Amino acid sequence: MRRAASIQLHPEALRHNLAVARGLAPGVSMWTVIKAEGYGHGLLWAAEVLAGASDGLAVSQIGEARALREAGFDGPLLVLQGPHDVGELRACHQLRLEPVIHETAQLDHLDAVPVRLPTVWVKLNTGMNRLGFGPPDAEGVARRLRAAGHGSWGVHWMTHLACADEPEHPQNARQLEGFAAAVSPLPGQASVANSAALFAGWGRAPGLDPERVCWARPGIMLYGAHPASVPADAPPEGPQADLRPAMTVQAPIIAIQPLEPGSMVGYGATWTADAPGRAGIVAMGYADGYPRHAPSGTPVRVRDRICPLIGRVSMDMLAVDLTDCPQAGVGDLATLWGEGLPVERVARAAGTISYELLTRVADRLQPAR
Ligand SMILES: *Cc1c(COP(=O)(O)O)cnc(C)c1O
Repeated sequence: MRRAASIQLHPEALRHNLAVARGLAPGVSMWTVIKAEGYGHGLLWAAEVLAGASDGLAVSQIGEARALREAGFDGPLLVLQGPHDVGELRACHQLRLEPVIHETAQLDHLDAVPVRLPTVWVKLNTGMNRLGFGPPDAEGVARRLRAAGHGSWGVHWMTHLACADEPEHPQNARQLEGFAAAVSPLPGQASVANSAALFAGWGRAPGLDPERVCWARPGIMLYGAHPASVPADAPPEGPQADLRPAMTVQAPIIAIQPLEPGSMVGYGATWTADAPGRAGIVAMGYADGYPRHAPSGTPVRVRDRICPLIGRVSMDMLAVDLTDCPQAGVGDLATLWGEGLPVERVARAAGTISYELLTRVADRLQPAR
């Protein structure tokens, strides 16, 4: 019997989800985002699965890009945070990376080294106020880059939307209009859309000449999670779009506890049975990456049924209510998320987002075989 929690990865799901992304934005090139260890699936695993299928890979940091080059990936690599110092800038050149430049200090570094970067992406801050130059500075940044000999293959433009998962939010229109106004008069390719913006129909940056080359930057949807928040009244099962989970996390039931009315389960005795029933103890806990704050009622799947979490999550274990699943027993595998239980449903119940659950999956989880 398997004793430990395990993780299954589904490469065909990743490629399927990329095809979904392409279907949402025909003619738009795809930077597939594999930062944060491929959203918890493994940097090299995600790169290997996506490399031939996408138009380029996007990571946050130079170190991630270096690991990809060392592993033999020689296609386009976008580095979303760009170089943080002169050494990283040299690495951008040596490793043939496409860095994102988002602040003046990076331009100063560019002046300080003799390297010339053929392709540079400039990030504009259109209202998220995280990274980026103000849109009025766009032309000046491009001029400075070109004067220093950079961008012989292109100075390109990107921005990031704060509220794409709520398409009606007025912040979207403000940001999209600000981007289009700044970029329209300038040459170069454009990139606006993360997963949520692809679903909103903004893969081709709205307001720009339709002939302009556009890139989208899907991340979470590639891994099978829908970026929009799950409606509060949604049933716990079923995906929100034709996306397939790239990860299934399972753990065996290692014990069964019969419950009497009044029996309490777990630390703090926070859950009390009101009828006779059964608790199944599952070998998955917060040290494995399951959210400790997931409340009673969070969906867990056992034998094709949703058997809700009961009581507090422990370090290596959690309990589920098996009262309505009398066939379930020791040795059965519970699905914490993945096939049959979309991760965003679990995230919603636990008061977090799919991104956090996926990226927190612990290294100690065994690959299933
Ligand atoms: C992480 C990231 C993405 C991908 O976002 P998803 O919501 O996962 O699709 C795109 N662009 C930038 C700048 C990012 O940091």
